[in-house]
Amino acid sequence: MTSEETSARTVMEWCDILGSYSEEPDCLTRPFASEAMRQANEVVAKWMRDAGMTVQRDAIGNLIGRYEARSAGAKTLLFGSHLDSVRDAGKYDGPLGVMIALACVERLYQRQERLPFAIEVLGFADEEGLRYHSAYLGSRAMTGTFDLEALQLTDAEGIPMAEAIRAFGGTPEPDILRTSRWQRDDLVGYCEVHIEQGPVLEARNLPVAVVSAIAGQSRISVRFTGEANHAGTVPMPLRHDALCAAAEFVLAVEALGSSTAGLVATVGQVSVQPGASNVIPGQVTLSLDVRHQDDMVREQACRQLEERAREIGQARGVSYNWQVLQEHHAVPCAPHLTQLLAQAIEELGYSLLSLPSGAGHDAAVLAELTDIGMLFVRCRGGISHNPAESVTPEDVAVAIKMVERFLSLLSEKEG
Ligand SMILES: [Zn+2]
Repeated sequence: MTSEETSARTVMEWCDILGSYSEEPDCLTRPFASEAMRQANEVVAKWMRDAGMTVQRDAIGNLIGRYEARSAGAKTLLFGSHLDSVRDAGKYDGPLGVMIALACVERLYQRQERLPFAIEVLGFADEEGLRYHSAYLGSRAMTGTFDLEALQLTDAEGIPMAEAIRAFGGTPEPDILRTSRWQRDDLVGYCEVHIEQGPVLEARNLPVAVVSAIAGQSRISVRFTGEANHAGTVPMPLRHDALCAAAEFVLAVEALGSSTAGLVATVGQVSVQPGASNVIPGQVTLSLDVRHQDDMVREQACRQLEERAREIGQARGVSYNWQVLQEHHAVPCAPHLTQLLAQAIEELGYSLLSLPSGAGHDAAVLAELTDIGMLFVRCRGGISHNPAESVTPEDVAVAIKMVERFLSLLSEKEG
């Protein structure tokens, strides 16, 4: 067994152990500031110390392991991901990124090797937003972009967030939560290893890919209003059926998504009024989710779809309403970090695949503070947010080799 394979086995074991810290007996559910998170933080802190790192926790409960540079006053390279989970989660979404970074530091420590920059491994206390329905609490607190109104939110049991933070050993003080731990100039950048959460790597038979950008997203509510009427008495040509308009629109969304490179567009919810078998549908409200790594392409797609909704409605005597609920712009990964990750992949003899991330990540928040780079690891069936999440030790070993190669390339540049 190579040393990378041994380290990969350790990473798999760590993920198994973390997977056992759950709020629910029969599945993995690890919400923000829970007892399960406290246990996870405790064991990861121990592994960090064993890997030669000093460990601290910040005001919101993020875990920070620091491995010093060759010399004092050097910059810091951040590596991280999240240690919280969704309900009935898999073991790898989040923890895998923290454990691979930790394994790479452990390997440096075993070789007594120091780099021209310090490394901090970050285990974010909340990314998924399970407990307070407010994602990225951890990375927002770390970058000083925490939304203070979130402190007033209460969980399902009525516990205010500020109280949960305090019970978790943190300090819910506004000025601390709004203060970044770093200045831009002190950092080399932020890197995150994460499972792909999609099927592309598996389809291409590749272990890893470099991420080009985190896709921007538009969430829109579309409503078609026709006329509810008797399903038996109104002849077909005289109807204003809102569901037929909506159905045509759903297929137009699929067609545009399919014909535009890199675009994904989804209607995930449809509600029909009045919703009776003997009534022509009078009103339909549907959700539209549009994502692309280039904001201009996404915005253009939204304009085209709105135009289609108007045309479809006009042809059927059905009016439409278009309401943008949320827009997130795309976050590009930094070319100089992406290029080094790509170089590492190629030097190890793998075909280079560059993918946008359709899902959000802590890296998108860190991008407000520093340059980001991301590496995807293949997961079986592209499945995530599901106990069936699965990665192989072989792919983890490749990811470890990749990160090590990346670190030495970056050391040559920074050193
Ligand atoms: Zn994740």
